[in-house]
Amino acid sequence: MTAVLVVNSGSSSFKYQLIEMSTETTLASGLVERIGELMGQSSHTVASGSTDTAASVRETATTERELPIPDHTAGFAVMLEAFRDHGPSLDDHAPVAVGHRVVHGGARFHEPTVVTEAVERDIDELAGLAPLHNPGALQGITAAIEAFASVPHVAVFDTAFHQTLPPEAFTYAINADLAERFRVRRYGFHGTSHSFVSRAGADFLGRPVEDLNQIVLHLGNGGSVCAVRAGRSVETSMGMTPLEGLVMGTRSGDIDPGVLFHLHRKAGLDIDDLDALLNRGSGLLGLTGRGDLRDVVTAADSGDGPSQLALDVYVHRLKGYVGSYYAQLGHVDVITFTAGVGENSALIRGRALAGLEALGIIIDAERNEARTRGPRRISTDDSAVTVLVIPTNEELEIARQTLSKVG
Ligand code: ADP
Repeated sequence: MTAVLVVNSGSSSFKYQLIEMSTETTLASGLVERIGELMGQSSHTVASGSTDTAASVRETATTERELPIPDHTAGFAVMLEAFRDHGPSLDDHAPVAVGHRVVHGGARFHEPTVVTEAVERDIDELAGLAPLHNPGALQGITAAIEAFASVPHVAVFDTAFHQTLPPEAFTYAINADLAERFRVRRYGFHGTSHSFVSRAGADFLGRPVEDLNQIVLHLGNGGSVCAVRAGRSVETSMGMTPLEGLVMGTRSGDIDPGVLFHLHRKAGLDIDDLDALLNRGSGLLGLTGRGDLRDVVTAADSGDGPSQLALDVYVHRLKGYVGSYYAQLGHVDVITFTAGVGENSALIRGRALAGLEALGIIIDAERNEARTRGPRRISTDDSAVTVLVIPTNEELEIARQTLSKVG
């Protein structure tokens, strides 16, 4: 038995999963949130039995608690109590390592890295690039090291998979000295998901990942596209921050920077207003007042004009990226949809790839509409490009990378 604990920590919450690596099954998962508030919350879900692990049909039991959780250290104590009271026993399933999701690894981290004091300092220093994310990850790492002092802790970075981007893809055409001094370049995000999904796509086809050119469309609340050549990321749509690229739930994605100057000068918005506007008040939410794609689809179906336009803009941008990455790769073997929208919305999948028969991309309408849990093909048998839907599993990827690091 070899278990790995995966921790995804933010500034006021963390999620965890205990994964048994011989079968790659989740033994327990949980969420500790509202850390530092008057009243905190935790939930702990235990997978009981293993009726059909292959189809991940497992019975689960969830327990919830409300109590003050002043800091991450207290949060890990709550998590340990949940394991003690509801199982599984951490004596029987002691993690051999703890894997931590860290959003920004800058240009410094291109692979999973065993956490040392120097690595903690580096993650702290990179908070300048990811002020909303890295500080929380570091708090989680520090507290987890206290709770699990005798095992290695591994940091797995969202940016790491994209460290293979060539300079022409990661360089912004701005003043080179300024860019160098302030580390302004494209880093890309969702790397753990793009890595997992591109490998899973190769596995699904029974072909070595080295033989394939792939486009991965990770469409969740945040969204990004990645061109993967021979298993390496060569282009991706998010940039220095997760704001660039696709239309997202609340983020604008690509926009002419001149719009910001205009809104500053004419509408009097300051830099914080603009940050909030583009990160939290734009995308589907800005266009329709609804940030969840399901709600936008429902409204569009009942004739709401702004919602119909929002879907058009969303799909237009997505299709543009597919075309662009097709051109960058020159030849595409696989296009894969993943994450909340990608896995669930036949409408978006169908519209994003409609009319691309000349590029060898042909969707089978019936396969696209079918709902199954595992990876599946939605292109026709004679489509030159294979189109897949693959559920992402970032926690499992973090656990795999963690284990690969500690042997
Ligand atoms: P996150 O980026 O927060 O991890 P997810 O990958 O869970 O997000 O994706 C969440 C999004 O998936 C939701 O905002 C919702 O719009 C979308 N989604 C989930 N199910 C469907 C569905 N059946 N149809 C359309 N969109 C869906």
